[in-house]
Amino acid sequence: MSAGWGTSGKQPALPEQAAGPSTSEEPKHPAQPAGDWGQAFHYDYTETDVDRQWGGNGAVYEWQGEEGDLAPEDPILEAQLFGEPDMRFGAGLDISKIYSINVSQEGEKRIAPIFKFEAAGLHPVMLKNVQMCGYDTPTPIQKYCIPAINMGYDLIAIAQTGSGKTAAYLIPILNQLMGKAKKLAAYRPTPQQLITGEKRPVRAEPLVLVICPTRELAIQIFNEARKFCYRTMLRPCVVYGGAPISDQIKQIGGGCDLLIATPGRLVDLMARGHLLTLRRLRYMVVDEADEMLDTDWQQEFAEIFSGGDHEEDNVQYMLFSATFPAAVRRLARDHLASNHLRVRVGRIGSTHENIKQDIVYVKPELKRGALLDLLYSIEPGRTIIFVNNKRAADEIDDFIYNKGGLPCTSMHSDRTQREREDAMRAFRAGKAPLLVTTGVSARGIDVRNVKHVINFDLPTMDHGGIQEYTHRIGRTGRIGHTGTATSFYTDRDMPLAEDLTKILMETKQTVPDFLQEYIPEGADPSNFKIEDDNSEDEDEAAGGEDPWGVGDSKPAGGDDAGVTDEGGWGTGASAGEASGTAGDGWGTGASAGETSGAAGGGWGAGSAIPSQW
Ligand code: ADP
Ligand code: MG
Repeated sequence: MSAGWGTSGKQPALPEQAAGPSTSEEPKHPAQPAGDWGQAFHYDYTETDVDRQWGGNGAVYEWQGEEGDLAPEDPILEAQLFGEPDMRFGAGLDISKIYSINVSQEGEKRIAPIFKFEAAGLHPVMLKNVQMCGYDTPTPIQKYCIPAINMGYDLIAIAQTGSGKTAAYLIPILNQLMGKAKKLAAYRPTPQQLITGEKRPVRAEPLVLVICPTRELAIQIFNEARKFCYRTMLRPCVVYGGAPISDQIKQIGGGCDLLIATPGRLVDLMARGHLLTLRRLRYMVVDEADEMLDTDWQQEFAEIFSGGDHEEDNVQYMLFSATFPAAVRRLARDHLASNHLRVRVGRIGSTHENIKQDIVYVKPELKRGALLDLLYSIEPGRTIIFVNNKRAADEIDDFIYNKGGLPCTSMHSDRTQREREDAMRAFRAGKAPLLVTTGVSARGIDVRNVKHVINFDLPTMDHGGIQEYTHRIGRTGRIGHTGTATSFYTDRDMPLAEDLTKILMETKQTVPDFLQEYIPEGADPSNFKIEDDNSEDEDEAAGGEDPWGVGDSKPAGGDDAGVTDEGGWGTGASAGEASGTAGDGWGTGASAGETSGAAGGGWGAGSAIPSQW
């Protein structure tokens, strides 16, 4: 089917076509979709629906103030948050697939990982919330972060997107606060008292602050928090730009123990001291720290860290990130306690092996046709299509809808917040299983069951390059699922060719003919590993001083140290988990040879174990 897309014989064989260049084959363009995508759907930009819900107004459990220590169940809200009861348990994600992942840790205290949520010392209400979310087993980052946060240390956690970082901090933080909420939390009126006017809204005095880079992500974390806060005494709120601040002020005025915020809106509200104060703050989480520091938020950041009236000594700081560039390390050095713990899962920036990556050579002018052919030939399922600019997002959305007759929506930063939320909602709900978006808008977004990622445009070198590619394709193949990522490669993408080839090799994908020439000389394609993330070396170049004082960013040797400590501390708990399959994980490829660097210190200093989940 791909013969018409570009130069003959250059495309990688599509699965159903087996091998063989298709030189003389007639181009085959499917005339209609291979399956049912649902009704064509298009966002109506003229629609003004005043009743439409903002993400920030999602229902939360409201403590009525009279229940004693254990809040009663609320079946209606429960169904809203967790789904209908018979769909709930075990209906979560399929993590029966076993991964072996290298986890390494560093710091003055060894973290003994927990292998079950039941062993995490959770309050029964919290444990039930976790179970209702459909989480059977903690993910690797959760295994380490939950006990680390329980121990009260500052924490840096590095793990790939889709590895369950949100719950890794929400569960232990909220769980710890549950018992103390009455003592620590600010007074708040009951919803009833607010409605009758008997009491006035209060100033928000959160105990927990989660900062994240995008509005969509803020809403997503809020939605996760609404589940974990269910029947706890803790009330979550979210504030972000673009949506009416009046609604948000009203929300936080009803009491706010956990605040999720994007930096701009947060700083706005902090400036109005009668609405928000951080003086009670106990936990501060910076989520997607790498992304936050990439953008122009330095000033807001400085204000948040120093300007709030929180007492630094009372606050446990946590940075969560997919990669670990110099900017994040600097932030940690400036704000985290010197005895903070560090946990790192898998290899930084590397892509998952459970994503099948196809790179298809296409002439630029044939891209649209190729897209339609592709959409018509794949199984219908949630699909994200990445383009490189806003105009292209609009155009491709229109094209898919008008030409292809498929249900599609799109998102980019020029859209109003309402349009962005509607687009996400339609995509999540499956009303529009096709989402066309620019890269930035989609960072950190977690939507279940994204079957396919299509890079209609590959990222350019000055907009993220291969890192951006990794983030994008990471939207599929999340937790225990497999996914497919198809990328259209044109001659303009040549600057990316070398990195792309390396990623394909490292993640054990077929390198198509037209990229063969970029295979590094002498490389063993069956066991290839990319050199460590060189952005980590910036500080060394500048000061020569080790920013961590622990030899973290050593120039060579022992990336993730592989399995140095099999059966050692903590792992004895489940011999089965520690045995075998080292390096069969998410592109860690830790072979025996690579474990040798462990003695060199750094992240992997003798603590990496493979863990399954
Ligand atoms: P990250 O922040 O690392 O990109 P997320 O926190 O967004 O990852 O989680 C990715 C997905 O995995 C979410 O849909 C989340 O509900 C799900 N998830 C998290 N922890 C578990 C678990 N222990 N078991 C099953 N699914 C989980
Ligand atoms: Mg996340």
